[in-house]
Amino acid sequence: MTEPVIASRLRGIPPTIFTEMSALAAATGAVNLGQGFPDVDGPREVVQRAEAALRGGANQYAPGPGVPALRTAIARHQERHYGLTLDPMTEVVVTTGATEAIAAAMLALVDPGDEVIVLEPFYDSYPATIQMAGGVRRPVTLRAPAFRLDVDALRAAVSDRTRLILLNSPHNPTGTALTPSELDAVASIAIEHDLLVVTDEVYEHLTYDVPHVPLATIPGMFERTLTISSIGKSYSLTGWKVGWATGPARLVEAVLAAKQWLTFTSGAPLQPAAAYALDEHGDWPRELAADLRVRRDLLCQGLRSLGLDVVVPEGTYFATTDISALGWADGDAFCRALPHRAGVVAIPTQGFYDSDAGRMLVRWAFCKRPELIEEALGRLAGADLHA
Ligand code: PMP
Ligand code: GLN
Repeated sequence: MTEPVIASRLRGIPPTIFTEMSALAAATGAVNLGQGFPDVDGPREVVQRAEAALRGGANQYAPGPGVPALRTAIARHQERHYGLTLDPMTEVVVTTGATEAIAAAMLALVDPGDEVIVLEPFYDSYPATIQMAGGVRRPVTLRAPAFRLDVDALRAAVSDRTRLILLNSPHNPTGTALTPSELDAVASIAIEHDLLVVTDEVYEHLTYDVPHVPLATIPGMFERTLTISSIGKSYSLTGWKVGWATGPARLVEAVLAAKQWLTFTSGAPLQPAAAYALDEHGDWPRELAADLRVRRDLLCQGLRSLGLDVVVPEGTYFATTDISALGWADGDAFCRALPHRAGVVAIPTQGFYDSDAGRMLVRWAFCKRPELIEEALGRLAGADLHA
């Protein structure tokens, strides 16, 4: 058989860079500032709840849309933080991480040939799942160094084939948190062209000095917006893969229509614990953000003192640098050499672009203990980083 075995819907999609770079970190013993996962777990009591659920018999299938306690806790969370009132039974669905919510949303809402407008650089599951749905991505670039939304470019990207806008704020990898006026612009374009918006807000609580504004709170947007989040980033429990989508019943039902054939239902023992986290440890994410802010500044200052141009993020736990000054052909070559040169792993973000705009950009994670960040900075300072 000479034909490729992989179906066209997956052909040409590269393996996720995160797995690749974490494997490189493990193989070389490098400090991993690549893949975004914290090296300290979230609240102990929350983990104990999961343990109790496992021991207490919550080990069979959860209801398809999620256990009622978690759906209710998610609805309360949206009300408490954003004043959004949701019916937990029809306007909330629990998913296997935000990743499943994104995939289910694309499969449920995008028909072959439909165009999906997506902010470039894009988190890598977006192009993959758009392609799996048969959709066509239309990138709108957040340009370095400010990484702000270009509203004219967004407007120009709309065509008569546009089905939806896939938004992400706070934005991975740039750290941009869209401002109320940028969100207003998205809203007016979506309303004018009658578009749906899927908004990935997994970093909703990890913002520094700026508030997180959910798109669904902008007048006229709730009815056309599907909002996605998860427990992973807010509570430093990325391995749990408990996520959710919220919005008007017709959009939540669409996600559920796809989700039931992807995973049917998500991890039963983790759901009551996630509900407990949202209900009883509501301040934990803000405390995490305050702590991360210090680590952000430590990393950014350290990278700057190495002579790198750093973009200080408003949200997420990633900082981006431009490595042009070091003489490399691109960020990918730099990141592949870095573990060997300096014993540090970072992520080249050029793979998150269709255009050339990210060729020299490299992302560094600061969701690690300060001593690990210092260790990485020390290693970088002691290495020759030039090509
Ligand atoms: N969206 C973005 C922007 C992310 O950075 C991540 C990182 N994990 C995800 C979605 C996936 O979230 P989860 O782990 O809950 O699937
Ligand atoms: N969201 C995390 C990141 O951007 C990890 C994603 C993943 O490993 N798929 O680094």
